[in-house]
Amino acid sequence: MISNIEKLIRKYVLLNAIKHDGKPSVKAVIGKVIAENPELKKSIKEVLNKVEEICNVISKLSIEEQEEMLRKEFSEVLIEKRKREEERKLPPLPNADKYEEIRTRFAPNPDSVLHLGSARAIILSHDYARMYNGKFILRFEDTDPRLKRANLIFYNYIREDLRWLNCKWDEEYIQSDRLELYYKVARELIERGGGYVCTCPKDRFRELIASSKPCPCRNLSIGAHLDRWEKMLNGTYDEEEAVLRVKTDLHHPNPAVRDWPAMRIIDPEKHPHPRKGKRYRVWPLYNMAAIPCTSFPS
Ligand SMILES: [Zn+2]
Repeated sequence: MISNIEKLIRKYVLLNAIKHDGKPSVKAVIGKVIAENPELKKSIKEVLNKVEEICNVISKLSIEEQEEMLRKEFSEVLIEKRKREEERKLPPLPNADKYEEIRTRFAPNPDSVLHLGSARAIILSHDYARMYNGKFILRFEDTDPRLKRANLIFYNYIREDLRWLNCKWDEEYIQSDRLELYYKVARELIERGGGYVCTCPKDRFRELIASSKPCPCRNLSIGAHLDRWEKMLNGTYDEEEAVLRVKTDLHHPNPAVRDWPAMRIIDPEKHPHPRKGKRYRVWPLYNMAAIPCTSFPS
């Protein structure tokens, strides 16, 4: 019986010592021993003496010797530990081997502080990137100065939270810094006939698209659309008077996807951007804004 108790104590002293630079904590060991065998509470004094005695002996050994001892005497503990660690690993991502690099992102709108749910998204994105030696990206989605207006203080709060969670990001993008890039892509889209500037009233457009009909703007010449695009940028059009749309299949089963809006006008006088001030009046909508960074030429 005594030797069993001694063995139990030795096991926890070794485990605790290895975890703490070779120096076991008497208190922590007692806690573990009593948790495993609550009966021992009755003879707590003897147990305490034994724990102190064994701690004394074990703490004189080097960590290598302690590890060796644990391996020899308690191999089952190590196997159990390894099993638990394996169970804790993230499940693999499907088709991960089909990609050259795994890139994950956390993309907050800096219009408020993060909440607890964000921590889950951050940790999963970060850990998956690490698991595949990929890249974890922090991307600030701050392209709606009207309804989801960013606030300067939150950019840093968010960075601080990521650091606090120990999730270091490899690349950072602030979407409002990339408007010129969006403009370039938008123009190219029009030039290739993949996008057009629609000036129809919203309701009229919705009616037509619901029955899979093109609006009158859709088939105007590319030149006409480039001209309209300029007018969006230079302030000829006001909010809601024009929107850049991406041409899709007009028979797409989901009407919301048909010729979806990509860029819209937000009056910079009424809604200046916290970082860009009144410099820009055309902003990407979510689907356009969230096209992966790597899809854009830099
Ligand atoms: Zn139209």
